[in-house]
Amino acid sequence: MRTWDRAHTPRLPGRGPRPALHDAKTDAPVVVPGGDDASLYTCGITPYDATHIGHAATYLASDTLTRVWLDAGLTVRTAMNSTDVDDPLLERATRDGVDWLELAEHEQEVFRHDMAALRILPPDAWIAVTERIDAIAEAVARLVDSGDAYRVDDDVYFDTTRERAYPLGLGSRTDRDAMLHLAREHGGDPERPGKRDPLDPLLWRAERPGEPAWDSPVGRGRPGWHIECAVIAMAELGAPFTVAAGGIDLRFPHQEMQAHHALALGATLFSETRANAGLVAYDGEKMSKSLGNLVKVRVLLEEGVRPAAIRLALLAHHWRTDWEWTAADLEAADARLDAWTAWAQIPPDDPSLDDSVLEWLRSTLHHDLDTPAALQAVDAFIARAPADDVSIDAIDALLGVRLR
Ligand SMILES: [Zn+2]
Repeated sequence: MRTWDRAHTPRLPGRGPRPALHDAKTDAPVVVPGGDDASLYTCGITPYDATHIGHAATYLASDTLTRVWLDAGLTVRTAMNSTDVDDPLLERATRDGVDWLELAEHEQEVFRHDMAALRILPPDAWIAVTERIDAIAEAVARLVDSGDAYRVDDDVYFDTTRERAYPLGLGSRTDRDAMLHLAREHGGDPERPGKRDPLDPLLWRAERPGEPAWDSPVGRGRPGWHIECAVIAMAELGAPFTVAAGGIDLRFPHQEMQAHHALALGATLFSETRANAGLVAYDGEKMSKSLGNLVKVRVLLEEGVRPAAIRLALLAHHWRTDWEWTAADLEAADARLDAWTAWAQIPPDDPSLDDSVLEWLRSTLHHDLDTPAALQAVDAFIARAPADDVSIDAIDALLGVRLR
């Protein structure tokens, strides 16, 4: 699927270090990849409601990781999906009396616009689920053949009770109650009778009246949520790829089930590392479509907020923390952008001075993409040094903020 225009990323002198990234699987920092090829799969949107600040924060974390990897001299390949056929999208289309495909198209276009405005680097491959129905159905058929999947009525479920390379979990099997709770909250159906295990997720949903469906070797229907990401990620990046990224709310069941689907499909490992971005709250609650407390990027842009200010407001929070969006975030970011922009307009009186913010940015971002520290490093630097070209380019390449 068409992505969006890629913002120019200046080349910086020398090379930065590879980042030590917090791995959500082991809860410890890891330096990945071991080789020179880095790959990143980020779980994409379900296109039925324009990008909110929480989404933007997640995609900005992936963007920062990509920028730091590129600065480290790595070859980077990135992929993302769009869940363009799923219950919430179909429900919204029905509610609004619009064609679901048109709704998805429209929302994907809004997303493109928002991401380009925020200078978030586009994935090398942005794949809509409807573009990969055959491949997903074929994977489901293989899982049925191998005994890793079974039917309940005409729907196909993944069998989580089978022994695999490592057990399903949140770090340990003892968290079963937590897993059941999360499965219930995030699209699972633990109560459905006939399943081998309440946690077993849907792989293929047989056609229902009025719902889109495709012919396939496992019957007419449409894909489940986790298998689509597993199939798209492995097709685009192979397995294992370096980092699977998504909001912390995707940790279970979504990311865990993808990884187990991949194991059942023959991968030794799905991803080396998992990265979970924190959630952004608003008005005291997690920002979510169901609660309706969304701060939308498009609305902020229409109100005249500068995209770079939105970017700085998000970068001022560490990507893994949960935080609450307030007007003060935007005010602080606006003031910071003014200060940085004013600084950038004044050329150095002595260009031979060999001083730049580059190494400060590299050393702060190296520590688990510590963007709040990186912003403070720039604040401190501009208070004492004139605007040199290397610093201007470093702020652009690593933080995505173009000051000139
Ligand atoms: Zn996903």
